[in-house]
Amino acid sequence: MTNAFQKLAVPGVQLLRPYLPGKPVAELERELGITNSIKLASNENPLGPSKKAVAAAQGILNKINIYPDGGSHELRHLLASRHGVSADCITIGNGSNDILELVARAFLAPCYSAVFSEFSFAVYPIVVQAVGAEARIAAALPADHQVMPYGHDLDAIIKQLEPNTRVVFVANPNNPTGTWLDKDRLEQFLAKVPDDVIVVLDEAYYEYMPDDLKPDSDALLKRFANLLVTRTFSKIYGLAGLRVGYSISHPDVADILNRVRQPFNVNLVAQVAAVAALDDDAHLQQSIAMNNAGLMQLSTGFKKLDLETIPSIANFISVHLGREAAPVYEGLLREGIIVRPVANYNLPQHLRITVGTDEQNTRVLTALEKIL
Ligand SMILES: *Cc1c(COP(=O)(O)O)cnc(C)c1O
Repeated sequence: MTNAFQKLAVPGVQLLRPYLPGKPVAELERELGITNSIKLASNENPLGPSKKAVAAAQGILNKINIYPDGGSHELRHLLASRHGVSADCITIGNGSNDILELVARAFLAPCYSAVFSEFSFAVYPIVVQAVGAEARIAAALPADHQVMPYGHDLDAIIKQLEPNTRVVFVANPNNPTGTWLDKDRLEQFLAKVPDDVIVVLDEAYYEYMPDDLKPDSDALLKRFANLLVTRTFSKIYGLAGLRVGYSISHPDVADILNRVRQPFNVNLVAQVAAVAALDDDAHLQQSIAMNNAGLMQLSTGFKKLDLETIPSIANFISVHLGREAAPVYEGLLREGIIVRPVANYNLPQHLRITVGTDEQNTRVLTALEKIL
């Protein structure tokens, strides 16, 4: 009987496999009876949240009997002024994941297709399949590519576009690789995509990019009406647990997303914490500095262990172990260290490791040396 329910699910959902989150610390400690473990698996900010955001969140807790502002007025207006657009260009989501889903529900259906690169964020195939649309995968740049091994091949993405393509997903920097797109090539790419295709430029790790590599996405939005840029408070802003992200797009696109959005998709606490986090530049700068130091520490450490890495400017780095990664992942778990296996991304010999504090990075390098 239970099997019969499988057949009741709509076709796209029948074939779906759920997103695999990083293993929670509490779960590992329960399983192994250990304490003091660390999680470098979900690209969370090792510095923690902004103290201003925490204070704002605490300050609103006695009002949680009230529905949040369904239009996220204050946050939306603040973001609009930051990006130099009008507030009707901003859509706030329950994490940027919510926005990705809104895009799929609003612009995709079984007769349409979406295109993204091999080694792309695992949520893209989920949101596309869930609405029964076709996912068309463009091969990534080869592992021995001189400039950007495993990176997005924008020409290959263009080649995958079909007349029924409605959405393209491109993450910059990309997860799980950490690779990035050349600014000029990104612009040339946008110029080649037909204007009836929505380009989702997922900038979850934008703030970590060195300034000279950052595309001016606000300027690109003015030139390309079919561009939708997503950002999140989950990564550098350290608010992953509250779930808040947003998109900047043409107001007509935002209007369409708003039609499928849950009326109160972003909770009260998240809205005020995000507003406060935007006002904490010191936290942002400190997070960037810590990440730069950590990226350097980890890449130097991996080099000493003779391990190759995928070039990364995000807050994580994917390391090639030259053998099956699963047993190494298990070995790290026994040392109380949770990292991210990426076999589900078709990278069975890599582990993705989030940049942690100095101490956490040392711990993962020491454990890796011991295991290998
Ligand atoms: C982490 C991540 C997100 C953000 O997810 P939230 O729902 O905002 O927490 C979006 N895109 C990519 C590529 C990510 O890695």
